[in-house]
Amino acid sequence: MTKPCSKCKGEMSMQILDPFHGEEGDLKLSVQQMPSLICSQGHKRFIHIEFAAQLMDLMASPETFSSIPGAAKKGLFRKHYHCPGCDVELPASPTGRETLEVVADLSNAEPFKVVIEVPVFQCSGCGKVSIHSAEESGRLAFKATEHAYRSIDIHPT
Ligand SMILES: [Zn+2]
Ligand SMILES: [Zn+2]
Repeated sequence: MTKPCSKCKGEMSMQILDPFHGEEGDLKLSVQQMPSLICSQGHKRFIHIEFAAQLMDLMASPETFSSIPGAAKKGLFRKHYHCPGCDVELPASPTGRETLEVVADLSNAEPFKVVIEVPVFQCSGCGKVSIHSAEESGRLAFKATEHAYRSIDIHPT
């Protein structure tokens, strides 16, 4: 028996959500077909208490960005980034975005998909595309996920 809605005490049922979006810095993501509990008034709850954090942890994980090479970080006081291919200094601002499709296979849920548009830096020397670091991209994706949750007003209880 599913716990009733905490706002209206209505009955909740499992539904697949329409895609919803979040942004942080130059990173954008879209959470697609995430299961959630919804009442007849449209109040939303995560399907279990750990769910929201599990997805955010996945988004923050360096593994999630392992398909894009990371730059070489240099400088002690002023950090700058160099191309992992030819060591030319990378542009200060992102030159574009790479799209990653991440399968979220979380406990007690059908797998669903998150599409992440990761800001990348293209080297002016050799043309290779990289991110500053998987940790930096993960930080952006973590916050973007938080914004995405807020945009659809979904809660843990
Ligand atoms: Zn409700
Ligand atoms: Zn290069």
